[in-house]
Amino acid sequence: MLADFDQWVKLALADQPFPREAALQILADPTLDLLRLTAAAGEVRITYFGRQVMLHRINDIQNGLCPEDCGYCAQSKISAAPIKKYPLKSDADILQEAHAAKAKGAYRYCMVSSGRGPSLERTQQLAQIIRRIKTEVGIQTCLSAGLVTKEQAEILQAAGLDRLNHNLNTSASHTDKIVTTHTFQDRLDTLKAARSAGLDLCSGMIAGMGESDQDILEVAYQLREYQVPSIPINFLIPIPGNPIYDCDQLSPQRCLRILCLFRFVNPRAEIRIGGGREGHLRGLQAWALYPANSLFVEGYLATRGHDVDQVVQLIKDAGFEIAGDHSLSTDLTSAQQFQLDDNPNILNPQTTIA
Ligand code: SF4
Repeated sequence: MLADFDQWVKLALADQPFPREAALQILADPTLDLLRLTAAAGEVRITYFGRQVMLHRINDIQNGLCPEDCGYCAQSKISAAPIKKYPLKSDADILQEAHAAKAKGAYRYCMVSSGRGPSLERTQQLAQIIRRIKTEVGIQTCLSAGLVTKEQAEILQAAGLDRLNHNLNTSASHTDKIVTTHTFQDRLDTLKAARSAGLDLCSGMIAGMGESDQDILEVAYQLREYQVPSIPINFLIPIPGNPIYDCDQLSPQRCLRILCLFRFVNPRAEIRIGGGREGHLRGLQAWALYPANSLFVEGYLATRGHDVDQVVQLIKDAGFEIAGDHSLSTDLTSAQQFQLDDNPNILNPQTTIA
């Protein structure tokens, strides 16, 4: 089938449902011209978001000690990955890190707490921290804390939380190969609870966990059905000690195709390049700014990533801009540029948002 890029762009600009055969073609057609595909996805992205790139900074406010068995996660009870485990950080630490994220130009401060979901008492504690961040720091906030009920979502919303993250991670049919301690439906229920409490939704996937093309399509269309405005696409990096370890199915071109697919199926969404950007997209990171309009700086949960200066330089070199803060310094000295290759992130374990 010949790709009709003009028609794909037209559908996306009208926010019309994207045909499944075309979505599958994006992932599976070896003859598809990737330069034209990226340009078409870029036309949609630029129409909706201009050339702006949103920077997100994750703070892992509680790490490890999780009773769930997500096979990709170093914080799970079944992972043997050697990570640093700690309970909820102090309010002062979380606030100070929020100030630092804002100072470094982060558009949004994403707090991630390990665990199946917070108790009511823990929800109140998180709400108190969020209230202080909103009044004392003044930055967009996102929380990822596992499964939440409507009552808990309402408490968080009342405290000023802007957005709740809960990733679908993979399709309904592939979920039981990834985790057995909760279901795909549990994840959907959390999204419904957050939405009915008036929170913005953030939900995405992890590619590279043995899923099929159809599984990826299922996630993309499910997120469209829920009209999720923020979609992080994580690319699994194998973590020694985790049960899900083999991600040979990913290549830079495959990652680019996945990002383009999500742009066409969810044209108005903030498509974020999540964990694994540096190691999996490699030389195509700048290309990925055409389908995607958002990314993480300074690493993920259990992994290091490129620091903010490197990311800002990448964005600037590709002719894009940082959303929200134009005062950021974007010029690396030549000495700094020579250090770019020293980042060992690919050797570090990576986890994604719970
Ligand atoms: S992804 Fe979240 S729920 Fe699953 S094991 Fe990791 S911290 Fe626990």
